[in-house]
Amino acid sequence: MTARITSLRTYDIRFPTSQELDGSDAMNPDPDYSAAYVIIGTDHPDRHEGHGFAFTIGRGNDIQTTAISALEPYVVGRPLQATLDDLGGVWREMVHDSQLRWLGPEKGVMHMAISAVVNALWDLRAKRAGKPVWKLLADLTPEELVDLVDFRYLSDALTPGEALDILRRAEPGKVEREAYLLDHGYPGYTTTPGWLGYDDAKLARLCKEAVADGFTQIKLKVGADVADDVRRLAIAREAVGPTVRIAVDANQRWDVGQAIAWVRELARFDPWWVEEPTSPDDVLGHATIARAISPVRVATGEHVQNRVVFKQLLQSGAISYLQLDAARVAGVNENVAILLLAAKFGVPVCPHAGGVGLCELVQHLSMFDYMAVSGSMENRVIEFVDHLHEHFVHPVVIRNGNYVAPTSPGFSATLRRRTLVDYAYPDGPVWTEVPAA
Ligand SMILES: [Mg+2]
Repeated sequence: MTARITSLRTYDIRFPTSQELDGSDAMNPDPDYSAAYVIIGTDHPDRHEGHGFAFTIGRGNDIQTTAISALEPYVVGRPLQATLDDLGGVWREMVHDSQLRWLGPEKGVMHMAISAVVNALWDLRAKRAGKPVWKLLADLTPEELVDLVDFRYLSDALTPGEALDILRRAEPGKVEREAYLLDHGYPGYTTTPGWLGYDDAKLARLCKEAVADGFTQIKLKVGADVADDVRRLAIAREAVGPTVRIAVDANQRWDVGQAIAWVRELARFDPWWVEEPTSPDDVLGHATIARAISPVRVATGEHVQNRVVFKQLLQSGAISYLQLDAARVAGVNENVAILLLAAKFGVPVCPHAGGVGLCELVQHLSMFDYMAVSGSMENRVIEFVDHLHEHFVHPVVIRNGNYVAPTSPGFSATLRRRTLVDYAYPDGPVWTEVPAA
């Protein structure tokens, strides 16, 4: 009998992180990190399940969870192996559903829901193959990888033929790169010291700890008050010394002119990049800022909604670093497209992570990029934030500032059973025991 996908279960999981001001920045003062979580089940005797999620910061996680449920007809009842062997086709079916597409198109809650389901299917495929996702992807042929990508809206910047050329160029040296990756890991940088809600003493202490832990880059949140930012950057620069890179992140706080003026105030502390200086939809605004603040570089991507906006950011020379997110665009497939675009334009990818589970997911994409797309770690770092990893069955491992390559089969997305019970919103014990605000 053909094994089938038999269930798509969703969970509204929320962590009360706002109580400690972890994750506080200029636009998001009190986030409760949350996962709209999905588990895909089958009737195959191997009992493997696919786990995925969309990351939100609290209110609205119920809406996100409901959006994932709306995709159940695309998954439940399908033959297992044929579905997992054609994730390019499954992706196109879901993204091009003409009625659900009206809610975007290809952006926002519905697109993030597709991300959760697509990533859960990749998790399931990788578990069944006995490989971590980075390795599963790296072992695909260039033709199989190109087939994952929807080139609609991309072909003026990247054709399937060019994508094949990029992937074929990266084939020599794969064996050596895998050995290097397994030995050394992949460089990370840390945002842990820099949340806006931390006082100066905590900032200085965490900066020093980051350097002692082996990180060569840290990041500070900025954008609420320029005098505060000057003071905090001075403290951080003093704490880490002249050679450690300090990126700053404004989380979309500024208008274009304000961004230029503000970054000029901070330039004497030699910021490595300024992240999300303005609206993530404002491609031309980013290009204007990039020209005005050079040699300070512009980075963005965690709120860029799809491959089309990334294409324009690259075409317009607006970004020096591309910060894809594992769970905002529509999952692995769209991120393969974005990695190929970045390779075409020669822009390093330094993914967004943090939140809950984003480090766990995105490490696979960077490692795949190193193995099979750009073939390089130069000027590439994965964000690391030391929150909530203990809730995962296979949490990220950081050694001397580097992400250790995961070897467990899957996408490192599986939350502990206990967490699914304790942090369920609004009825889990963590929430029923907290007094209402
Ligand atoms: Mg950011």
